Amino acid sequence: MLSSSSKSFRHLHLCLQLCRTPRLVAGVALLAAVSLVAITGCSDLGSPSSNGGKALTYPYRIVTTCGMVTDMVRNIAGDKAQVIGLMGPTVDPHLHKPTRSDVRVLSEADVVFYVGLMLEGRMADTFVSLAASGKPVYAVTEVLDESKLREPPEFEGHWDPHVWMNVALWSECAQGVAERLAEFDPANAQYYRDNATQYRQELAALDNYVRQVIASIPEQQRMLITAHDAFGYFGDAYGLKVESPQGITTESEPSVEDVNQLVDLVVENKVPAIFVESSVNPKGIQAIQQGARQRGWKLQLGGRLFSDAMGAEGTYEGTYIGMMDHNATTIARALGGEAPEGGMQGRLSGAAIDK
Ligand SMILES: [Zn+2]
Repeated sequence: MLSSSSKSFRHLHLCLQLCRTPRLVAGVALLAAVSLVAITGCSDLGSPSSNGGKALTYPYRIVTTCGMVTDMVRNIAGDKAQVIGLMGPTVDPHLHKPTRSDVRVLSEADVVFYVGLMLEGRMADTFVSLAASGKPVYAVTEVLDESKLREPPEFEGHWDPHVWMNVALWSECAQGVAERLAEFDPANAQYYRDNATQYRQELAALDNYVRQVIASIPEQQRMLITAHDAFGYFGDAYGLKVESPQGITTESEPSVEDVNQLVDLVVENKVPAIFVESSVNPKGIQAIQQGARQRGWKLQLGGRLFSDAMGAEGTYEGTYIGMMDHNATTIARALGGEAPEGGMQGRLSGAAIDK
């Protein structure tokens, strides 16, 4: 685990491992089949209020994977569908294997939405067989132009799946969901599009807020060090340099060398704070903090960020907007920028910085 191999070597190694695993190779081929089946499936759904020939009863049933997708689809489907999210606040989507109950819930769904780009890597086979059975199964990221996706050099051949960290890109995905629902339930096409328009206006306000508070951080301190590489899109969109001791998935453990390099970076740049994530093991981050303190730099823990899962259901942080508001506000305040303690709407629960 704690090998001294360099970060890029380790990532390349992991990538090769992934690419050489026959099951995953088959998964990739089958994923292509999923899109074909999904497209074919769609053309069968042309008649109003029909579900591939069956009469549609409301609310029909949509099943989603992680909280960010669940929240987006709820906003767009409104009262036309019951939206069931499979992954709660503590679930790591990179590692989640579908349980027997997941498979049952998915098989009872009328429509399925997931993030895609291999985020839910261990669910790929399940999505494939669902789509093969004729069920509409969609990745919300499928609408994004490839030129907007990150392909981190150390993870050649794989897209970075953490698209929701760029609010503008996530907003494009919302439009895609509306179009898919409009195809599935043409009688309510306008309803879904209107809901998407309203949700996208809220996301535009969020995007502005995030941009503004991150820009208030003194330039040399715009460095985000967090547990795993979930924040690449965030950094690109809002102007932060992002470093992490763990790669793009949470499958690998940080090496001693990675940790030492980050300790150097923190001490040399006098980075005031680093961050832990709600769904990722904090070991690597704690090691950096300890290393910096041994060298006389009082590095703070800037707080807990939501990366691949949202806050508790029923709270503001348990919505996508609340999660991103919390992240931007926490990061800005910990790194010396200016942001109201209660965030964009004064709704954060006061724990913006828990040092
Ligand atoms: Zn992740």
